[in-house]
Parts: sequence; C-alpha cells; structure tokens
Amino acid sequence: PESVPRRHGVRLPPDTTGEAFDEAIKALRKALGEDNVVLNDKPLVDGWYLEHPNTHDAFHLVDQEDLVSSATAYPASTADVQAVVKWANEHGIPIYPISMGRNVGYGGTAPRVPGSVVVDLGKRMNKIINIDAENASCVVEPGVSYFALYDEIQRRNLPFWIDCPDLGGGSVLGNAIDRGVGYTPMGDHFGAHCGMEVVLPTGELLRTGMGALPGKDGADNPTWQSFPAAYGPYSDGIFSQSNFGIVCQMGFHLMHETGHQSYMLTFPRDEDFPDIVEIIRPLAQKGILGNIPQLRHVVQELNVTGHPKSHWYSGPGPVPRDVIRKHASQMPCGDCAWVFYGTQYGDETAIKTQLDVIKSAFSAINGFKFFLPLDVPPDHYLNDRALVCSGVPVLRELEWLNWKPNSAHLFFSPITPTRGRDAQIVHDINVRLHAKYGIDLFPTLCIAGREMHYITNIIYDRSSDEEKRRVNALMTELIAETAREGYGEYRTHLLYADQVARTYNWNDNALMRFNETIKDALDPNGILAPGRNGIWPKKYRGKGWEL
Ligand code: ADP
Repeated sequence: PESVPRRHGVRLPPDTTGEAFDEAIKALRKALGEDNVVLNDKPLVDGWYLEHPNTHDAFHLVDQEDLVSSATAYPASTADVQAVVKWANEHGIPIYPISMGRNVGYGGTAPRVPGSVVVDLGKRMNKIINIDAENASCVVEPGVSYFALYDEIQRRNLPFWIDCPDLGGGSVLGNAIDRGVGYTPMGDHFGAHCGMEVVLPTGELLRTGMGALPGKDGADNPTWQSFPAAYGPYSDGIFSQSNFGIVCQMGFHLMHETGHQSYMLTFPRDEDFPDIVEIIRPLAQKGILGNIPQLRHVVQELNVTGHPKSHWYSGPGPVPRDVIRKHASQMPCGDCAWVFYGTQYGDETAIKTQLDVIKSAFSAINGFKFFLPLDVPPDHYLNDRALVCSGVPVLRELEWLNWKPNSAHLFFSPITPTRGRDAQIVHDINVRLHAKYGIDLFPTLCIAGREMHYITNIIYDRSSDEEKRRVNALMTELIAETAREGYGEYRTHLLYADQVARTYNWNDNALMRFNETIKDALDPNGILAPGRNGIWPKKYRGKGWEL
C-alpha cells in the first residue's frame, strides 16, 4: 500500500496549542532521549501485518488521517513508562499505550482521541523476563510476540507449548490484556495470566496478586506466577479492556506439551447449523472436546486458500451460495455447508477414545464426514490448524486479505449461549444484514460449552469510501440488532466502542457508572487512553466525544 502525502500537518492533542505541544515534546525527549520520541508528521503508510504502522489505523474505516497520533514515544523500562505518564499529567496530553499494535480488525495502533501520543511499549520493552520451568510459567514484557516466546522455549529445549491466536505476530501481553483467545486447552489468554506489574495513570507502580507481597531480601514474590488472586479484591480484571493502567509485565502459565490430533468435520446442509451447536454443547461441557473448536461456513474454505474473490466469482455483490457450492465440491471438504476444526489431546489411546465419542455424537447429522490431516493435501488449512492448536504460531490467516484489492478487515464478535436457537438468531441477523449491505458473510464460531464467540470477518476495500460507508452502516446495525435480542460483543473496533459500551446498560448504565467512578479516581486528569472501551474520563464526558 502506497503512502499518500499528508493533507494536514501534525495532529495536535485536544486543547493544545502548537507552542505548548513543541514545549511538551521537548520535555518528553529530555526524559526519554532524543530518538525515542518521533513526531507523526510524515506520510501515513498502511504497511502490512509484519510492518504495521504505529501512527494510525492501517485498516482505516474513516479517513486515514482521522484517527492519528501526534507522536510516538518509546519507553525502555517501567521507570520510563512512569516518566511518560507523569509528563502526560503535567502537560494534559492524552497518551495511548500499545504493546505491539497488531490487534488488527479492532483498531490497530490508532488512539481513540486523535493527537494522542502513542506509547509504543513493545519496541524497546521486549524481554522475556523469566521462564520458570518448574512452575511452568513465564513473565514477559509487552514487546514479546508469540513467535519470540515460542522460539525461546525451543531454544531452551523446554517441554512447553504456548497458546497463540490465529495470527502469531501479536504481543502475548497485549492480546491477553484485550482478552483475545487461542486454541490449545489454555486458549483463554487472560484466564491463563498470573500476576501483573502496572503503571497507574498517576505514575504510581502496582503489582497485583502475590506480587504485592515483597519476596525475601527484595526478590520478586516466589508465588507471583503461581496464585493469581492472592488477598483482597481480585484487581487484575480491571486492567483488561480498559484504560486504568499500563501493564509493563505480565505472568502466564504455560502448557505442557502433549500428544495431539487435529481433524476436520464437514456437515452437508446450511440448516444443520443449530443441530451442530446442540451436539457441541455437551461434548464441550464434559471436556470431551479438547480445545475451543472452530465452526466455519464453507465459504471460508474458499478464502483461506489465499485466492482473491475474483478467482471464484466475477459478478457484483457477495459470492452466491450456488457458486460457493460449485467450487467447494471440487475441494477436499466437498459440497458441504459447515466445516468444523477440532483437536484432541493426550496419549494415543485417549485420543482414539475421544474421537470415537465425537464421531458417534455427530453421526446424528446425516452426511457428516471426518478428515484427518493425512486425508487432505499438505497445503490444506487443516495443517495450519494443527500447528496453531499445538502451540505453533503461524501467519496463514493473513491470506484473508487477498480477498479484495486494498483489503482491510473488521471483526463483529457477539457472544451467544451455546444453544442452537440463540446461534440461529444471531446467524440469521448476520445473513440478512450482510445481504442488505452487499457484503460477503464469513462466520467463524469459537464454541465453548456455555458460550460461543460468533465472529464474522468483514472484509472491505479501504480505498473505497463508498464501501467503508456500507461496512460502517452494516456494523452499526449488527450491533444494535443483536443487542435488542440480548447478545453483546466481547470486543470491538475502537470506533464502535461507545455503541457497544452503551448496549451494556442494565439498571440505568450501572456498569458504565461504576467504570467511570474507577476511571475518575485513578486518572483524575483523564490522560490515559480516553474513550478506550467507551470509558471517558470526566474531562471528556458529554463534550461530544462519544460516537
Ligand atoms: P497486540 O500486541 O496483540 O498487537 P496491541 O498492542 O495492539 O495488541 O494491544 C491491543 C490493545 O490493548 C491496545 O490498542 C491497547 O489499547 C491495549 N494495550 C495493549 N498493551 C497494553 C498495555 N501494556 N497496557 C495497557 N493497555 C494495553
């Protein structure tokens, strides 16, 4: 993607004159070193996943120059982060921390308030502080990617897995803070964390859990990575999906490597959908399914090959169902409607027993088929699933972006109960609204025993303002319609944070009032990521910032 000359100069933080900004930047450079503060004054380059910008949202949904920073700061230590926070309070300039900035589809590195200073933690704070082989845990800084942690475990020849999301380039810490998910039995990334070191919005330093109790002779507490909650209120949760602190270190439990077997199931009819969900529920609740499996509509077998849409269909609008059918019938999955990717864990006997139970349960659906990796060609997606589900980071899912020229994507991700009728309601809303706005529907469902993440990947051409407007209208309507039915999103792009936050309004917005109370107590000057997850500090509330 090309860079376009900037139409505007540096985007100043709100209520800040050019002079005051120059003075402030001078002070920040003094604190961090000249080279560690970079103005965002050059043409914006969207780059790509592995060379992503930290200046704006590379997957812009509005004008590329709308959601931009004024500058980027690169702290090297927790003490540096404290210095940045104190500076922000002194100058009244909002800051926006990122770890690596690869949460693509949810806003990338863009600050919610244009002109904020992005604090890029990952570039210089990228140490694996500890891997404790006895405790099966690690402590990382924000810049440690899944690839880096994986490589280090291999280098030390340790018997552990990591748990990565579909794409392995992101930050272990950043993804957990945003409550992302992965696909081994330890796929709940926030759930697998243990202990945090946090810089609060006033610059004060906090350790959570057992980390609050000093170890002997000034050492870190020996159970900091063993027992998450410790004593008193369990505070860690308020630092996830929030703007209450900057997490500088975080501990995680690691999974022991084990035998594993990935497989694919296919189901012939679109209408099988609620029945599939009904069969998954008890299998998941009883722990027979080894991980969080994915159920995808067959259209995804087309796009995960990496071929562009034009390879399959040259007409206008979404690829019609009969065209999908025609192509799928030539592929390993055959003419089917739903494709299920699962993995079982343990020794050979255990895996065989589990697979027998699973096959017998799904045999209630006429025409279901079972595939092992050796049944499909080596470049089939099942082989990439097998890697992700056994803790090996991959980049295969980037191939989604070949679908269109100038592709960008956005996720719509409501949570529903794992129940056929609920899943069908959300699916029907998606089918109807995607058709209304002429957008291909790509549902991937991550299904646990009691809830499922119904995730649709909305792919759009970011060079087309018309298409962006359509995608925006689709997204806004999806959020509103699913909320009316009682379903809410677990995570969203920063442009929809306010709308989604407003749907969680039980008892006169009790939850948001609670969040605002915490925000105002911790961040009286409102400098830390104002507006993230719909939480606005007092200084900004009711002044027209909410979308
Ligand atoms: P990734 O590292 O997966 O690429 P990001 O760095 O983009 O993810 O993090 C996702 C979001 O989580 C960021 O936009 C930011 O709002 C928040 N975040 C990330 N790291 C931190 C952190 N260390 N402290 C506080 N918030 C963070």
